[in-house]
Amino acid sequence: MPKKTFMLHVRIVDGVHDRAIEDGAFVIQRVHTDKIPIEDHIVYAGPMAGYDWQAQKSEGDVVLDLSGGTYTVMPGLFNVHAHLDLRHPYKPYRFDEFGTAYRTMIIYRRAVEALNAGVTTIRSTGLPDEIDYAVKKAAENGLLQLPRMVVCGRLNIAVGGHAWNNYISQQFNGAEEFRMAARSELARGADFIKIGLTGGAASAHEGMADKQMTDEEILAVTQTAHNAGKKVAAHLGGDRAIQDAVRLGVDSVEHAYTLSESTARALKEAGAYLVPTLSVTNCSDYLRGHGSPDFQVRKLEEAAAEHRRSIARAVQAGVKICVGTDLLPSDPIDGTVATIREVELLNQVGLPPMEALKAATVNSAELCDVDHITGTLEPGKAGDFIVVEGKPDCSVSDLRNIRQVVRSCRLVWSDLPGLKLRRMQVTPDGMEMDGGTYRKW
Ligand SMILES: [Zn+2]
Repeated sequence: MPKKTFMLHVRIVDGVHDRAIEDGAFVIQRVHTDKIPIEDHIVYAGPMAGYDWQAQKSEGDVVLDLSGGTYTVMPGLFNVHAHLDLRHPYKPYRFDEFGTAYRTMIIYRRAVEALNAGVTTIRSTGLPDEIDYAVKKAAENGLLQLPRMVVCGRLNIAVGGHAWNNYISQQFNGAEEFRMAARSELARGADFIKIGLTGGAASAHEGMADKQMTDEEILAVTQTAHNAGKKVAAHLGGDRAIQDAVRLGVDSVEHAYTLSESTARALKEAGAYLVPTLSVTNCSDYLRGHGSPDFQVRKLEEAAAEHRRSIARAVQAGVKICVGTDLLPSDPIDGTVATIREVELLNQVGLPPMEALKAATVNSAELCDVDHITGTLEPGKAGDFIVVEGKPDCSVSDLRNIRQVVRSCRLVWSDLPGLKLRRMQVTPDGMEMDGGTYRKW
């Protein structure tokens, strides 16, 4: 028996229009079965005026009248650059004292925390042992309530390249080996392929702009992925390498610590996506507090100012920007979680509030090739959304006041008048979790 939920007198930021609907009605429909049914979807997202909700209502449907406050319903947040296995204190490692099974449990828990924080889709940018594939399958089969997962398996790098000493990477030499790497991940079900094209902050031995893959190697990956209809995401530190990468078909530029005006224009012309991860160059107190090595914090601090200027250039050039953090999606930074902090930082470098919300939703959905399912609030879409108290399309910091999270029309938690459901409450320490991050390994 289908059951609808009517949210009445709510503001709607649908991800399609450039302005919010001030007095809207938002309606979802659920069908109770064992499987995640495709019948669960958004039924209506539009103005109250002219919508006869009473005529649509059946017995047992839920009606939430939000006219008593200012609430905005919008698509659930995306975090398209996340490593759910990050260790605190950070240390590079290829082997650790834990095995795959325990690591999987840590990653499961972090995925739950991200969902609690309003992140309904995660693009995992590098995990070992096919854990991301397993988490994705568990989510798809309705085994566990988790964010939607977009996965790539491991990070593919040149021998001795970026993160060579971390088990999330696998090292290759020459175009043939890289082609094989891409084919292997595609065979496992990769949604995209990730390569490490330049150095980064995580290792001491490399410059953040050092190009570490040859053009032939890059092309071998982009051709293989594109032939399978998949995108290539590249860890990219410096301007020159970004220019080469875009020319060679890389679809998403991750980080871009330095980016010139002309390269920003090339990105725009190529229709490539940019995932700035500004939060990782703007959280040195946090990194120090969590025991990150000095060289790493220094590298990120030195990169911070130019990183912000680079992303401002990309905003000016009209490049499609997405939200990713390179930190855990729910890491607590500056009084909020990393994913929301990233939206604020994008706004600070010039992305207007509504555009910053689109970066966190519809742009990221396009990048992940899930825009036909989610990322906007339109009839027929899956019903991944959050309700925020305030007007995040006017002030992005209102995202700090999330009052409800829903994934595939299924309630994760709610603190709305008329519908209270607590989020996960108890950690092993007996403390209330409240969207925090589990950091013990
Ligand atoms: Zn990363």
